[in-house]
Amino acid sequence: MYRYPRLYLNAKLRQATLSELGKWIQNRWEWIIEWRCDWFGWEKSQIIELRQHLTQNTLNFQNEDEWLWKDEEIEQYSIKSTYKKLQNTFKTEDLELYSLLWKVKALLSAQHFTWRVFLDRIATKENLRKRRVMLESYLCPMCGSMEESTNHPFFTCKITGIV
Ligand SMILES: [Zn+2]
Repeated sequence: MYRYPRLYLNAKLRQATLSELGKWIQNRWEWIIEWRCDWFGWEKSQIIELRQHLTQNTLNFQNEDEWLWKDEEIEQYSIKSTYKKLQNTFKTEDLELYSLLWKVKALLSAQHFTWRVFLDRIATKENLRKRRVMLESYLCPMCGSMEESTNHPFFTCKITGIV
């Protein structure tokens, strides 16, 4: 996906699991990747490169499956590396805001809700749509004119804006 973005776009099964992309033939893993249309020109050399890459990194029938933690050089999971990764995902201003939020004297449930608003982790219709949850309408139930997002009731809703 990251190494071959053009090929990824043309893959028939873009959300495929490993088992959907090949099969064991006499204890040998055979990659079976189907494409939506034929390749031309420079794409063909990408295909050859991908095939070589897959042949070099094929599955081994003898080996047990195992989890790999890609963030650590030693490829072993640790709390420290998780902490470091999470630190990098938040901006400094965000971290300051969060620490301020937890210092405010308010109900824990209110703090928790506000924190989820900051992170955009509220089950709004927009977020449900992004997770492909089918709803009859994704519009705000108050104004009916815009999609219900996390920000909408606070900033752009004509009805809740009055309150
Ligand atoms: Zn609204």
